[in-house]
Amino acid sequence: MFKSLFKRKAEIIKNTDPDRIYVENIRSFFNLPYGVAKKLCDMAVRQNFFYKKYGLYCKNDDCKRIISVYDNIEDIPNQIECFICQANEKEKYSFDKNELEIVEFYQLIER
Ligand SMILES: [Zn+2]
Repeated sequence: MFKSLFKRKAEIIKNTDPDRIYVENIRSFFNLPYGVAKKLCDMAVRQNFFYKKYGLYCKNDDCKRIISVYDNIEDIPNQIECFICQANEKEKYSFDKNELEIVEFYQLIER
């Protein structure tokens, strides 16, 4: 039920990347309260329809790119570098884990 539901919905929402599904996407699409949408996402993870991912975004205002993505929060190293900012010779390209916002998102598991 989950598979067809989410797959169809993901296809319907053209601008939803199946590799980058945010709770907010689910919330707005199904018009659910945030907490319910999050529970639905976590349920989809337990039933192997979604992977849960943790993304870190660069703090530099002119970058804001996703620096790296982890499967587990414990896998996030203490120091994270943005290679794009490093390549652009930005003053700051290395960040402490605590400086960065961790954004949770989900990926649709293709089967
Ligand atoms: Zn950057």
